[in-house]
Amino acid sequence: MRISKRFFPDYKFSSISYIDINILKNRGIKFAILDIDNTLVPYTSPKPDDNALNFLNKLKENGIKYCFVSNNHGGRINLFNEEIGAPVYPNAAKPLLLGIRKAMKAFGANKKNTVIIGDQVFTDVWGGKRAGILTILVDPIKECNTAFFRFKRHFERIIVNDFELNQRENKK
Ligand SMILES: [Mg+2]
Repeated sequence: MRISKRFFPDYKFSSISYIDINILKNRGIKFAILDIDNTLVPYTSPKPDDNALNFLNKLKENGIKYCFVSNNHGGRINLFNEEIGAPVYPNAAKPLLLGIRKAMKAFGANKKNTVIIGDQVFTDVWGGKRAGILTILVDPIKECNTAFFRFKRHFERIIVNDFELNQRENKK
């Protein structure tokens, strides 16, 4: 438990559709750093779907600016972003701070008014925690079934189980 706590997200939702925007508003969030793959759309979808677009609109309507900070390459990110036109930071190397810091600087954002939303504990959540910003974990939309991903997900599962146990215990 002690080790995994460092990787706990601030909040966890089953998908972007279930993210409670009021939590973000109440916490004074103005900027959202968004992961794309398996967070907004499946890894295999080149374009945003209605689900992703609805979520992006919801952010916009609530005065939250967003950008895409992805570990994937520019070709994928630019194609995804073609009709959206948000700032993009490909090859971000999360959990390193490179892309996250660049995005925050361009926004003029600070630690208090920024959230990162993603599906991976060891890239999105850890990166966000290292940057000192709010972190939201969502369940991955679609599993990528390589051996490396299964290996990584195994350790993520340990953290997520601990996190959920911790939340239940805190509610008691
Ligand atoms: Mg992802």
